[in-house]
Amino acid sequence: MSRAIRTLLLSVVTVTVLLPAPPAPAKKPKLVLAIVVDQFRYDYLLRFRQDYNSGFVRLLQQGAFFTDAHYLHATTVTAVGHSTFLSGATPSISGIIANEWYDRESAQTVTSVFDPSSKLVGGLADKPGSSPRRLLVSTVGDEIKMQGGDSKVIGVSIKDRSAILPAGHMADGAYWYADESNAWVTSTYYRSALPEWAKKVNQEEPYKAYIGAKWLPYDAADGSAKPFCTMGVSKAGICGSIEATPWGNEMIEEFAERAIDGEDLGRHSGTDVLTVSFSANDYVGHAVGPDDPSVRDISIRTDRLLGKLLTFVDQRVGTGNTLVVFTADHGVAPVPEVNAARKMPGGRIPDAELIQKMTTALTKRFGPGKWLLPGPAATPYLNLELIDSHKLDRAEVERVAAEAALTDSHIARAYTREDILNGRVQQDTIGRAVTLGFYGRRSGDLYILQEPYYLFGGTTGTSHGTPYTYDNHVPIVFLGPGIRPGTYSRTVAVNDIAPTLAAILGVTEPSGSVGRVLTEMLQ
Ligand SMILES: [Zn+2]
Repeated sequence: MSRAIRTLLLSVVTVTVLLPAPPAPAKKPKLVLAIVVDQFRYDYLLRFRQDYNSGFVRLLQQGAFFTDAHYLHATTVTAVGHSTFLSGATPSISGIIANEWYDRESAQTVTSVFDPSSKLVGGLADKPGSSPRRLLVSTVGDEIKMQGGDSKVIGVSIKDRSAILPAGHMADGAYWYADESNAWVTSTYYRSALPEWAKKVNQEEPYKAYIGAKWLPYDAADGSAKPFCTMGVSKAGICGSIEATPWGNEMIEEFAERAIDGEDLGRHSGTDVLTVSFSANDYVGHAVGPDDPSVRDISIRTDRLLGKLLTFVDQRVGTGNTLVVFTADHGVAPVPEVNAARKMPGGRIPDAELIQKMTTALTKRFGPGKWLLPGPAATPYLNLELIDSHKLDRAEVERVAAEAALTDSHIARAYTREDILNGRVQQDTIGRAVTLGFYGRRSGDLYILQEPYYLFGGTTGTSHGTPYTYDNHVPIVFLGPGIRPGTYSRTVAVNDIAPTLAAILGVTEPSGSVGRVLTEMLQ
């Protein structure tokens, strides 16, 4: 062998040795546990950090924590957040534009999941059911199911929309809580009767344990502490029903455990998906606002409950076999009166006042008539029959209404349908969020935006639903096989969750996804 060839061979060997071995593909999770805490604003994770010692600590210490995750759409409400979570789609594609909207076809207001072609199962007889039929796109669960195999997909929450929308069209079941019958229910869209394990939960009547219970501060040293409220005795909107107490979350967690056992989740050859949305935080938050001690308290209790669920999942599915993803569906604004007291901007804009302004202007310009259909003042629907009968230009009518809305001193912007659909919006993040939140066939004829910290309607408590950061900044944490733990400060969208899960699981990304794969946290 010549020296030259030997050198060449040696260098090839050296190069081969030095090349890093390709990373072994991460173990496919047996279960995806997809958790939403309703109205859990980003800062709740850090503000109460010293009080957490369980689930949130585990997520923060062992998971990939995204500190700058936002929703892309303007209408930051429950149905929209939950539809984004595992679809990666914006409302402009998914069609889920709000919790409810005016359906021009049936001439009635419908919820995001209202489905009169289905019936409620497990609750009161002959009640219309709910289904994902209005969701126009697929979810991660749908993509797994479409691949075939034995994977199961289950959704659980107190709210129907929060159980149904993340789970998707091909889910084996979605279960929510019917207050009027104090029972877990589903609809005939999924099945004709509750599975035995769910029937058993209802037979045990778990709510009975909480009747008359006092919600005491979690860290109260003794029983002498003043309770926040007593179950069944409504105080400032909390404890009036089981949903508006920490026990509502306990019932969700218990039901999720029963679903894991009842459906053998994590024990199929394909990856199963369980979506769990904790709703009680939202009911409490609406009633008292983010600065009330009971919000801190329910956050601490949520930490303990998440810890319990994660431990249960590990026991059943085996440590390291579950991919957990955690986020919130939206944030929340401070209570306007709390803000006013601390010299911060904010206030309330009565719906009726805004509607009156628009109605007066339309009547003055086009003559008497019912120009606006019943609905929320911020996204009004015009009476198209009246516009047609007067042979008016729809865009012109929209403009008159928008100008009238802008005469209110705390309305920041008023977009018309015509402007949004033709891209004539201010080119900033808010203009983009309004556009991404708009679906022409369903959305209202105007999108009226208040100044930051202002709320439409209401006299007490607070709300959410704007494109401002207090409403759209939420935590995202991934935890499990293939995830590189750490803190990730790059700006990401909640829409990135679904394509990332699809990439990890090796399935097609959901049909309407606009997100990117969060490769920075993948091992
Ligand atoms: Zn919500």
